[in-house]
Amino acid sequence: TTATMDLKQHIRGIPDFPKPGILFYDISTLMRNADAWQVAMGRVTHAVAPWAPDMLAAIESRGFLTAAPLASRLGCGLVMLRKPGKLPGETVAHSYELEYGSDTLHIQADAIVPGQRVVVMDDLLATGGTLAASIALLRKVGANVVGASVLVELTALGGRARLDVPVRALVSYD
Ligand code: IMP
Repeated sequence: TTATMDLKQHIRGIPDFPKPGILFYDISTLMRNADAWQVAMGRVTHAVAPWAPDMLAAIESRGFLTAAPLASRLGCGLVMLRKPGKLPGETVAHSYELEYGSDTLHIQADAIVPGQRVVVMDDLLATGGTLAASIALLRKVGANVVGASVLVELTALGGRARLDVPVRALVSYD
């Protein structure tokens, strides 16, 4: 039934993607199953609603897939955090270090009214670098970041400890 559904049964671990030695957790199979996806979005709604966000911030690209239905359920707005060259108009950027090289996320400069309560959304929390950078970017434009929500947390990587906001995950793996 809905209350007891084990969402892990709908998430696959795919070895050696995108590189040898990496086990990639794939939410495609969760999304493909109408009942499982409905349950997942219901649980995310319950996790995020108490933070009373004004706005959800969705990290490109799988964060878009969870944030859009959630914004509709909560009746709040939605802003995109995107890779360079994707957003029209004036943007604010934040660069961050990866294991090899660096990456940059942008937000439209006028996306957030300073002080708005914002929850940042992604599919998966690994080392926490992406969410930490997203939170830093949101603060640059005046957001009050009140939480972070992911479907999957890889707890052994300790990403949660790098974040100074509360984090909710639907499922976790060691
Ligand atoms: P982090 O910055 O190390 O926490 O990595 C999280 C980011 O990388 C998120 O945007 C994820 O979409 C992506 N990511 C890392 N590992 C996986 C995985 O196993 N499955 C899906 N996405 C992943």
